[in-house]
Amino acid sequence: MTNNFTRRSRKGILFVISAPSGGGKSTLVKRVIGSLPNMQLSVSHTTRSIRQGEEEGRDYYFVSKDTFKGMIERGEFLEWADVFGNYYGTSYKSIETATAAGKDLILDIDIQGADQLRKKGCECSYIFVLPPSISLLMARLEARGTNSQDDIKTRIGKAREEISHYKDYDYIVVNDRLEEAAGSLESIIVAERARLKNMTEEIRGLDL
Ligand code: ADP
Ligand code: 5GP
Repeated sequence: MTNNFTRRSRKGILFVISAPSGGGKSTLVKRVIGSLPNMQLSVSHTTRSIRQGEEEGRDYYFVSKDTFKGMIERGEFLEWADVFGNYYGTSYKSIETATAAGKDLILDIDIQGADQLRKKGCECSYIFVLPPSISLLMARLEARGTNSQDDIKTRIGKAREEISHYKDYDYIVVNDRLEEAAGSLESIIVAERARLKNMTEEIRGLDL
């Protein structure tokens, strides 16, 4: 597997989004993918079981632990982590397919994965989504209805530690009112796209 991804010149921008579980990443990401052109979600591999409403290949590639371990051994992951007792990882292949098509990509990954990308020197835009409060975070996880009470306890238990990492990120989105949070995320993406280093190709195409 190639590792030229970390060194490649700007083609597609990589947006890394982290938040505690229930923070609203999936909801916000779906919004901006629906509202902005040329955005795509990176589809991770996971060993957790599929939830109601999820689709293989759209939300995740659902694989066994043995398959996942084989992929680790073959160096197929840009990053991977053990989150709540299951493996999650971003394969080079899933990223290269999307960026080769000229899309900007959103990576919905946890703080461990984001840390690995920073250490690899990935030129990503790092965004952290904060909930307004822990009690609201818990209420949202309960209302989502996809996790058992035990699972919710584990996720809330980890939330404070995860939240303490917000300082490592470039941008913060507070997910209080959904419309405003989605607007804030869109603005971040639009501003990143307008950075000089990301505008070179477009400028070359102008009649100047
Ligand atoms: P994550 O992907 O970070 O685990 P989700 O996007 O699944 O979180 O959000 C958790 C739950 O909270 C979902 O049921 C979602 O509909 C709800 N939710 C997300 N953002 C808001 C918000 N701003 N206000 C109210 N409910 C929200
Ligand atoms: P969930 O089980 O709720 O879909 O995701 C649980 C956590 O795993 C979330 O914090 C999510 O961001 C993280 N996650 C999802 N995919 C990946 C991945 O490819 N790599 C890493 N490191 N974390 C991931």
